[in-house]
Amino acid sequence: MPPAIEIRDLRKSYGDVQALSGVDLDVPEGSFFGLLGPNGAGKTTFINVLVGLVRKSGGTARVFGHDVEDDYREARDKIGLAPQEFNVDRFFPIREVLEHKAGYHGVPKSEARERADEVLKRVGIYDKRDTRFDWLSGGMKRRFMLARALITEPDLLILDEPTAGVDVQLRHELWETITDLNDHGTTILLTTHYIEEAERLCDEVAILDSGRVVDVASPDELMDRGTDRITVSLRD
Ligand code: ATP
Repeated sequence: MPPAIEIRDLRKSYGDVQALSGVDLDVPEGSFFGLLGPNGAGKTTFINVLVGLVRKSGGTARVFGHDVEDDYREARDKIGLAPQEFNVDRFFPIREVLEHKAGYHGVPKSEARERADEVLKRVGIYDKRDTRFDWLSGGMKRRFMLARALITEPDLLILDEPTAGVDVQLRHELWETITDLNDHGTTILLTTHYIEEAERLCDEVAILDSGRVVDVASPDELMDRGTDRITVSLRD
C-alpha cells in the first residue's frame, strides 16, 4: 500500500527564490500529520504542488501512488483542500456553491443536494444553507471552507491553517470535527502556527524550515527533545 503522500527531493523555485529545496517526506495512510514552520518556510508551496496549483521544479510528489503532475486527475480526485484564503464564489447561497462543486466532480444532480446538506450539517452551518458566503461570520467562513473540502469525500484532507483567527470555542469545535474525520479513516495533512493544535491533533509532525524538512517526530518527542525545533516552527 503506497503512503498517502510520498515526496522525494521535491524542489520549487520562483525565480531566484528557492521555496522548496529538496523535501523528502512520507505521510502514512490514515495518519493525522502536521506540517509546521515559520512564515515563508514553504508550507503553502508544498500544498500547492500537491494539488496542482504550482508546477514543481524537480523531484517527485505522489498521492496514494499517483504522480501529482503525470496522473493529475487521479491524484487530485483523492484530495480535499481547505486553503488559507477564502477563494469562494461569494454571490451564491453556500449550498449552491457546494452543489456546483459536487457536480463539477461528477456527482449526479440528484445526489449533489443531499451531499451538500450532509457536509453543511457535519460542520454545523446547515441553518445558513441559503446565505451567501459574504454574509457569513469569520468563523462560519472557516467552517464552510471545511465543508467545501469535504464535498468530494476525499481520502486525503489538506487543511492550511484551518483555525487561523478563530476564537477558542470554534477552534475546539473544528478540532472535534477534524478528529472525527480522521477516526473514520481520512488521512489529514494540517499546517498550523499553533503548537497546541499540533500537540492535540497530530500523530506526527514535520518541521519545515527554509524549504527543507529539518525534523519529523511525534509532538511529544519534539517536546521531550527540548524546544529548539518547536521554536523554529514558531519563529515569525
Ligand atoms: P506562511 O506561513 O507565511 O503561509 P509558508 O510556509 O506557507 O508561509 P510559502 O508561502 O510557501 O511559505 O513561501 C515560501 C517562499 O516562497 C517565501 O520566500 C515566499 O516569499 C516565496 N513565494 C511563495 N509564492 C511565491 C510566488 N508566487 N512568487 C514568488 N515567490 C513566492
